[in-house]
Amino acid sequence: MTGTPQEVRYKGLGVSEGLVIGQVLRMHHGTQQVYLWRVSDAGLEAELLRFRAAVELASQRVRSIKEYAEERLGRDHAYIFDAHLLMLEDEKLTGDIERKITEEHVNAEWAVKVVGDRLISLYSEIKDEYLRARGSDVEDVMQRLLVSLRGDRSEPRELSEDAVIVARDLLPSEVAELDLKHARAIATDSGGWTSHTSILARGIGIPAVVGLRDFFRRAKTGDRIIVDSSRNEVILHPTQDTLDVYRSEAAKRLKLVRAKYSQEKGPLRTTDGVEIILRANIEVPSEFDGVDEYGARGVGLFRSEFLLAHRGGLVSEDEQRLAYERIAKLAGDEGAVVRLFDLGAGTLRETGANQSQEQEKNPALGLRAIRFGLRNEEIMRTQVRAILLAASKGRLKIVLPMVADASDVSRARVIIKEEATDLKRAGRDFGEVGIGAMIEVPSAVLMAESIARMVDFFELGTNDLVQYTLAVDRGNDAVADWFRTLHPAVLHSIQRSLNAARAAGIPAIVCGEMASTPAYATLLIGLGALELSMTPSAIPRVRRVLAGINSEDAKSIAEECLGCDTADDVESLVRERFTSHWPNLFSPASLPAAREALQNRKLLRLSGPPSK
Ligand code: PEP
Ligand code: MG
Repeated sequence: MTGTPQEVRYKGLGVSEGLVIGQVLRMHHGTQQVYLWRVSDAGLEAELLRFRAAVELASQRVRSIKEYAEERLGRDHAYIFDAHLLMLEDEKLTGDIERKITEEHVNAEWAVKVVGDRLISLYSEIKDEYLRARGSDVEDVMQRLLVSLRGDRSEPRELSEDAVIVARDLLPSEVAELDLKHARAIATDSGGWTSHTSILARGIGIPAVVGLRDFFRRAKTGDRIIVDSSRNEVILHPTQDTLDVYRSEAAKRLKLVRAKYSQEKGPLRTTDGVEIILRANIEVPSEFDGVDEYGARGVGLFRSEFLLAHRGGLVSEDEQRLAYERIAKLAGDEGAVVRLFDLGAGTLRETGANQSQEQEKNPALGLRAIRFGLRNEEIMRTQVRAILLAASKGRLKIVLPMVADASDVSRARVIIKEEATDLKRAGRDFGEVGIGAMIEVPSAVLMAESIARMVDFFELGTNDLVQYTLAVDRGNDAVADWFRTLHPAVLHSIQRSLNAARAAGIPAIVCGEMASTPAYATLLIGLGALELSMTPSAIPRVRRVLAGINSEDAKSIAEECLGCDTADDVESLVRERFTSHWPNLFSPASLPAAREALQNRKLLRLSGPPSK
């Protein structure tokens, strides 16, 4: 049949807010064809090795997707991939697959498919919707294993503009890998409110309608489509009239959203009137728009090493200056804090900087951050000059990463001063910059009073503070259970640092991930924090919660937490007190989960659903 296609409306479930007009991009869900073949006795060992290599390859890939998701979506969403890693490490699951290979003499692909399908069908029978949706995680891992057995290493997908991703189902890792500059919305045949795909779509803020049944079959790449999640529907081949109506509605909604955020841009106060300042942590340009959109008061942390990440090498003084000018402009009157490169030895392979140090045994304890700068003075001086020059065009400050004590600060201060003097002598236009210290290692906490006398402000990097206080590598999954943000030792360190700043009359910004989680942010206010910096998209949710708490209540709960002996005790106290003080602000899911519950969930993830 030819002619203009008819407009058709399909009903589904809107799981992530928004109205988008775009073009269909069909995405096949990467399902791998699996064939069975027999493996001879002599070939069994090789087949097992092939399977183990695929597990390793799949784990590497999931780890990099997790990092990618962390960068773009924050840790709150990247945790999904921890579950995938746990599955790949689960000896029961891999053992079942290996047994199938050896006992039945079948190829690894077939064994993965049979064991995986059995697990997926067990999940599909669970009554609880949330747990049932976890079947898609099993499927994701199985698909990843099959891809790895084929030896593929697919890279993140680049999309054309205005793409509405249409698929039968999308795996969580496929959503995390989408090129968000162009993917405008998602429409899938299956899925529900709690599927990870939906959770991720909400996290990213991309509109999504799921559960559209057999829509995928009917849509072709390039077809015009409207996705309207508030009406739970998609419209294929909209007529010109429909397009006109929806275009004006989209414009109206955009205005409303902007108005909502701008209402939220005024001063934030707790219910007892304490003003809290929320700033933005930024790394890559895709986050820049969020500073204004989410109402951040300037940039609390620019992780400048991301300037180099794209190049894999150094960036000239001029290019750096332009980048810092752009950040200063973005931050406006509230200003921006540029952190000097937080690099480790071996990060800048092509630069010749300390090649000899590449093989450090303990890079986290090695020549990184301010130590790297002090050892590679030219790199540091170039960066300092670029910041000073950019500061003539806007408000900038410098923060020194990972200082151990006052001597790190004074050496850095000398360099900054010398560069300013040289610029002055050369008649160049530069600006004054405040100098701050990142407080993120235990020695800096213990020496906080002396460091505070030498700087204009503190920044508390709680990610590293947890890592170094508890001696837990923040990137090592094997010790993830020991990475306890609410450990009393961490809380004491935070309180001590905040007290030292207050006593010295300087501001302190808490800028680790802790600040972006509403429950933790509340505790930070209780410990005395008045300024938090976080990934921009987290600002509205933190703001909403802090506007509803009384800082005195937060203080007394924090005091109680400081009296606890273990992280478990703090977490259960937080669950109990937050639920009774602020039942409308904190759902159980927004509070630290009880350890037993976590344990059960882990077992469930690993061994399949209970046989109830
Ligand atoms: C921190 O350590 O908490 C921090 C803000 O910096 P990064 O995560 O870049 O180390
Ligand atoms: Mg840090």
